[in-house]
Amino acid sequence: MTANVTGEAKSSATGGEEWRGELRKRLKTAEELSRILKLTPEELLALRRGTRVPVALTPYYASLIRGSAPDYPLRRAVIPHCGELETSPEEVCDPLGEQQHTPIPDVVHTYSDRLLLLITARCAVYCRFCTRRRLFGRGARRGIDWWPRVLAYLRNHRQIREVILSGGDPLMLNDRLLQRLLRDLRSVPHVELLRLHTRIPAVLPSRVTPALAELLREHQPLWLIHHTVHPDELTPRFAAACSLLAERGIPMGNQTVLLKGINDEPQTMLQLMNGLVRLRVKPYYLHQCDLAPGTSHFRTSVESGIRLIRRMYGRTGSLAVPLFVVDPPGGGGKVPLMPDYVISRKDGVWQLTDHEGRPRVYCEKSSTSNLPDPPGAQ
Ligand code: SF4
Repeated sequence: MTANVTGEAKSSATGGEEWRGELRKRLKTAEELSRILKLTPEELLALRRGTRVPVALTPYYASLIRGSAPDYPLRRAVIPHCGELETSPEEVCDPLGEQQHTPIPDVVHTYSDRLLLLITARCAVYCRFCTRRRLFGRGARRGIDWWPRVLAYLRNHRQIREVILSGGDPLMLNDRLLQRLLRDLRSVPHVELLRLHTRIPAVLPSRVTPALAELLREHQPLWLIHHTVHPDELTPRFAAACSLLAERGIPMGNQTVLLKGINDEPQTMLQLMNGLVRLRVKPYYLHQCDLAPGTSHFRTSVESGIRLIRRMYGRTGSLAVPLFVVDPPGGGGKVPLMPDYVISRKDGVWQLTDHEGRPRVYCEKSSTSNLPDPPGAQ
């Protein structure tokens, strides 16, 4: 591929498809947003001072929050608030430590067998809790030879079997660029799997056209990982986008950031995860909100995330329960966190507790001498 991958902004802003028109009509200023919402003083302050994360709202997403109350979860996810202007001592610019694992600008090699490409710094809608806010508003860092360097790196690292396209949102690239890029990646023999992380089906579903679904199908195995935060995002248009992708055989997962006041109630999370499974999307990760600057008003405690997962087990099938993960600063990667169901273990006898806190026993050995007294025995 010789095209300059950084040129997607211009390319995606031309042409006649509905999604491109929607991108041009995004709401970006306090004046534009006040046509659909009565902005609060806290929101106006953030909009006037300016935040690290840009502001943009597609007409589609605007229609979901039009006239809503200030605490409406979808509104909080996309409308800036003055909480964003404050940085807590524990927050850091690069909370995932990605810069330590960056052999080439916008290429992250944290795990030996996977390569992450931050393919663009553009998104259709900007999320107020974004972890990668360091990408926004910076000058161009890539040279014209960026893409050949990425491919050379990939070819020289034969242990890489999976390439992840993220950003920003890779579906901001137009089909032509996306096609070239995926073809180039597929030309590397040891790349087994492609993965594309996107919030676009939830915020700009018109982007998921039959042509896009067909393009993605050509590069199988390719997993598409949605990014949703609340069951109200699972609209008929989102469902139609999922259906189109599923019918083209695109396997789908979902990741969600755990956000205070948005999705930290068990009932909300259950609705979201069960809804995704119905749409043939496997809940993949639930992320503890990273320590990105200006996000403390969204962050729940780690303990409450673990409690939430515990509440989900037993109230829905495990297919609908995502893996709860925390990404400690420093760049070592994700750490899965599970509720602790083990009370004790000794000589192959496991004293356990189930999701409702009832005691259970599992014996690894057949000898009856290992068996403890059943609960309640004298
Ligand atoms: S779509 Fe992803 S990269 Fe873009 S602002 Fe939202 S969380 Fe950040």
